[in-house]
Amino acid sequence: MQIPATLLPAFAESFGGRPRLFRAPGRVNLIGEHTDYTGGLVMPAAIDFSTWVAAGRREDRTIRAISEGFPGTLEFSLDRTPKCQGNWTDYVAGVAATLEAAGHRLRGANLLIHGEVPVGSGLSSSAAIEVATALALLKNSDLFLEPLQFALLCQRAENDFVGMRCGIMDQFISCFGRQDHALMLDCRSLTHRAVRLPAEASLVICNTMVRHELASTEYNRRREDCEAAARIIGPLRDLTLETLERRAADLPEPVRKRCRHVVTENVRVLQAAASLEESDIKAFGRYMDESHRSLRDDYEVSCRELDIMTELAGRLPGVYGSRMTGGGFGGCTISLVESGHVEDFVNQVASGYAIETGLTPKVYVCRAQDGAREVSLLECAVT
Ligand code: ADP
Ligand code: MG
Repeated sequence: MQIPATLLPAFAESFGGRPRLFRAPGRVNLIGEHTDYTGGLVMPAAIDFSTWVAAGRREDRTIRAISEGFPGTLEFSLDRTPKCQGNWTDYVAGVAATLEAAGHRLRGANLLIHGEVPVGSGLSSSAAIEVATALALLKNSDLFLEPLQFALLCQRAENDFVGMRCGIMDQFISCFGRQDHALMLDCRSLTHRAVRLPAEASLVICNTMVRHELASTEYNRRREDCEAAARIIGPLRDLTLETLERRAADLPEPVRKRCRHVVTENVRVLQAAASLEESDIKAFGRYMDESHRSLRDDYEVSCRELDIMTELAGRLPGVYGSRMTGGGFGGCTISLVESGHVEDFVNQVASGYAIETGLTPKVYVCRAQDGAREVSLLECAVT
């Protein structure tokens, strides 16, 4: 774990003194897409890009926060509910206000934030900043919270203060992530199981560098389709493919195919977890490919760039599987690549994508990482 080089000097310059350090990771979802908000199964891994918060205690009840690369300073008193500003400060103020509203009396703090998680690419920089901030504020106040409560409060901050209707997956994995493991999370019971990732394969994330405008309206539409289906045939989580086929005539299109994605995707997550546990990486890769096709054809949340990226990946040697990850309509793909082929993969996927789209993608080779932690200066190197 390497502390970003600028963090301590920047804190000393802005606030003075030596802070405590906290970090929370972003994440990539390996399989189980668009299943969280119907209480289904997902399989994310925390990645080795974190948001860092350097925190110093104050004697008053003021929160002051600066984030490197983001404009302005947040300053407010914990004795008054902060107002939503429509910018990055909402994530920090929202977490503080949500913790206070849940009865956790906080001390004032100076916070310097440094983000490594690419912003707005579907790798959940938003959960990373929420979880790192919540951990910093609680520890700064000598408070402790069960990790599940912790994740739920961060989700509440994003839902209610920021106004983004996200599920629990992002905050959960940022808290509970485990090195070299993915977590199979049941979004209804909130129970999880860690599944070891194969040592001989790497997680390679390719950023298409596009984000189409319709992403948020289509996201809300998909949720409405699922809610409409549930009113007709009951909770999608309990639906089997047999029942869906038998009741198909009761469901209008496109609701029927939306359901088919959700039902088959939940089954694929179970099968994918089992294949990892049996060390059958090839089978895991095939489930990733199937997941992409289902998201493209039944859920209709892919786009030309995501399809190009996964098709390019699928043709390269050493690739077990590849799919879009995140909400869709742009953002990133995730590929599972045999470690010996990663370098060639990165070069070839980048040049192939540039030729077909004219865009230069960003490619991140990741390793599954532990969830949020306080980081001791003694155990770390400073880069
Ligand atoms: P994603 O979670 O996929 O990265 P979101 O749109 O959900 O995308 O969240 C991105 C927003 O989170 C940014 O626009 C910014 O407001 C906030 N954010 C993320 N990281 C940071 C950071 N390091 N400092 C300040 N704000 C951040
Ligand atoms: Mg987000």
